[in-house]
Amino acid sequence: MQSFEMKMLPWNVAFGCGVLSTLPVRLDALGFKRAFAVGTSDRQAGIGQLGALLGKRIAGQFPRARMHVPMEIVAEARQLAEAAHADCTIAIGGGSATGLGKALALHADLPLIAIPTTYAGSEMTNIWGVTEDGRKRTGRDPKVLPVLTLYDPELTLGLPRTVTGPSAMNALAQAVVNAHDRRANPITHRLALDAVQALAAALPEVFADEQNLAARERLLYGACLAGAALGAGVTSLHHRLCHTLGGSYGTPHAETHTVLLPYTVAYAAPAVPDLMQAIAIALNAQRAASGIFDLAVHLG
Ligand code: NAD
Repeated sequence: MQSFEMKMLPWNVAFGCGVLSTLPVRLDALGFKRAFAVGTSDRQAGIGQLGALLGKRIAGQFPRARMHVPMEIVAEARQLAEAAHADCTIAIGGGSATGLGKALALHADLPLIAIPTTYAGSEMTNIWGVTEDGRKRTGRDPKVLPVLTLYDPELTLGLPRTVTGPSAMNALAQAVVNAHDRRANPITHRLALDAVQALAAALPEVFADEQNLAARERLLYGACLAGAALGAGVTSLHHRLCHTLGGSYGTPHAETHTVLLPYTVAYAAPAVPDLMQAIAIALNAQRAASGIFDLAVHLG
């Protein structure tokens, strides 16, 4: 048995169909009265749902979160949140909405409540990222970890395949990286392997029937585990390559992960054959890199 050290993150998660409806009572328990709602412009339904649930407790809103969290967007949102005297941010949407919520936690001290509607997994990590002058900076800070995350699989039912596939592959990258990195402790390894297994099994099922709520639930569970593995674990060469490409050339985050992952795994494979074998088993494939490649091809 290897020796290890472990520090887990203070996650506060509620997972299940319909859990969104418990938001008002959970806000009461946390003592928040004036929420600032953030989301992306092409999915304003999310902020609408929050308005219907919380009424006047939505003190302000910003439906213009953008991929890679441009600093000028953070400044604009911060000004509105401060003018609204908000006491927390509620980010509903994918990693772009969560990313803006994290930037507000970092720069405006607003605690974050995350309601993810993709499989990005950012809500389980203490990692922030902002883009300024064409460069993406990332870091870890306990302030950006959401004080509450609600995973409601029903919110993912309308997610188109073009977002479902890459965002689940982004989650797979978080899991795979932590499953093959010897710096990760054995418990993080376990989280990561369970994430690989859940994601690889559920993703084809969701692609076969996008309205399959049970499969959507398992896929979201896989994303939660993958985000937890990344939050408690490490990032690697794979993440650095994706962030350099995303920050420098604006390449879409999840698609960049999807394209690079089989190659970064193949590159790392000779150094960690035993860990790669465990990933292959979790993928139900002969080899890790080719299993990931085949999964990406299967998703089109
Ligand atoms: P995204 O948040 O940009 O969402 C992709 C698209 O899907 C958007 O157009 C959005 O409006 C739409 N969408 C979201 N939910 C929907 C739903 N339920 N139905 C229909 N459409 C919906 O992309 P993403 O892949 O979720 O996140 C990418 C971002 O997350 C990147 O900026 C990346 O850097 C960040 N990220 C951060 C971490 C971290 O730990 N900090 C981890 C993973 C990703």
